[in-house]
Amino acid sequence: MSISELLIGCKFRFSQTPKPLVKTLLCFLILAGIEARQQKAHANTTTLEAGFAKESITPDITDPKRPIWIAGFGQKRQARSIHDNLWVRAVALSNGSRRGVIVSLDAIGFMHNDILDVRNAVQKELKLDFVIIASTHNHEAPDLIGIWGPSLLKTGVDSRYLGLVKSQTVKAIQASVAALEPARLQRMELPNVGADVLVDTRMPQVFDSNVRALRFISAASNQNLGILLTWANHPEVLWNANTAITSDFVHYLREGIESGIQYADTTVQPGLGGTAVFINGAVGGLMTTLDSTPVVDAVLNETLLTPSFEKARAVGYRVAEAVLGGVAAGAETEVTDNTFHWTSKSLLLPVDNGKFRAAAMLRIIRRKFESGFKTRSEVGLLQLGDTWIGTIPGELYPEIANGGVEAPTGNDFNMTTPVEVPALRTVMKGQMNMLLGLANDQIGYIIPKSQWDEKAPFTYNDEPYGEENSLGPNTAPLIHKALLEVFASAQAEQ
Ligand SMILES: [Zn+2]
Repeated sequence: MSISELLIGCKFRFSQTPKPLVKTLLCFLILAGIEARQQKAHANTTTLEAGFAKESITPDITDPKRPIWIAGFGQKRQARSIHDNLWVRAVALSNGSRRGVIVSLDAIGFMHNDILDVRNAVQKELKLDFVIIASTHNHEAPDLIGIWGPSLLKTGVDSRYLGLVKSQTVKAIQASVAALEPARLQRMELPNVGADVLVDTRMPQVFDSNVRALRFISAASNQNLGILLTWANHPEVLWNANTAITSDFVHYLREGIESGIQYADTTVQPGLGGTAVFINGAVGGLMTTLDSTPVVDAVLNETLLTPSFEKARAVGYRVAEAVLGGVAAGAETEVTDNTFHWTSKSLLLPVDNGKFRAAAMLRIIRRKFESGFKTRSEVGLLQLGDTWIGTIPGELYPEIANGGVEAPTGNDFNMTTPVEVPALRTVMKGQMNMLLGLANDQIGYIIPKSQWDEKAPFTYNDEPYGEENSLGPNTAPLIHKALLEVFASAQAEQ
């Protein structure tokens, strides 16, 4: 029934009131009240809705005056070709009273100030309670941090490309919200996936190799809308000599889940359809497929050693096969709790790393300081039904997430006990506990303070790698503490 039809009926009921104008006004007020109550009732429904969208963030590499520098290894690695598109992929979630988006970028990292720009462009307009943006840490994509340019003193960030990433991210978020539709949710955790295709290059040996997935199914069509999943490994299988833009193993991981495991014309395993959104986990410490790590491709019946797209495919397919196998085997649990709750904490982190300080002062890294040499970052927790999703602003050492922080002899502060205890997942209270790495910032490595080791004598006998790409030894204690506070406040509110 239209408003004008309602107005006619309404006026009739007020037929004893003398003045027509007063009648009309009274009717408008009553109808406005009815509409407001209806909206409120709608807002209180607990129907879960999900919407997926993706936009390309592949750079233009055709302008010789604007070289695109690939991030992740040394300087001066210019992009020469495009192997596969880079993407920003967004999943919007709504339960009627709250809504937000989780976004994945095929990027080395996306800094907090850039994330705030994107939030400013969408959050009010789309009434979003949370906007979580994480980078896959892709080492075969354009530099968005600055330290992988043509030389040590020149930024690697192309401002035009950064602008494209921001505008396409806004577009993907808008499209995901527009695509919201009633959905059912399934969660699934698969232990120890792909342990044979990655290594931990630094002691102690702790991995973050479980796949954790949230799959959304259209309530209307029963089709797969999409899947949001985490696993932890550096997307750098193509290694440091590659000059083709690619999302590395993540490309094959997503393609495998969406379209199936395919070799030439043969489909080994059919896909789920929909959109796969991959977010990295705790990749510090350091989770990687080295150029010397052998990867077996069972379909080709080959062991792949040298960096290649075939090797990246074998790594990505290993995760895709696990996900497809898990779904087929009924390993998922239906989630009926549709409540959302987002808690975040803004924090200032000291920048003790002299190289980072200089790079920021020279505008190689576009990062502002506050209160001396401190930089602003953020941690957070999204409670999505019975799943807890923590957001980590960089590359977390997995022992901080899963346990096993050590205080080895030779650590620079002569510490005898670890600081970052208890391990994050031991205090998270979800039925499934996801940790999104490089989420809402990229500050580099988050190294346990009792394992900090720049000076001889060295822990575990060798000078380790990691400290040169960390803000400093107090980063991990501060982030760990802030996350414990966020987790505690979330429980207090329950
Ligand atoms: Zn890294």
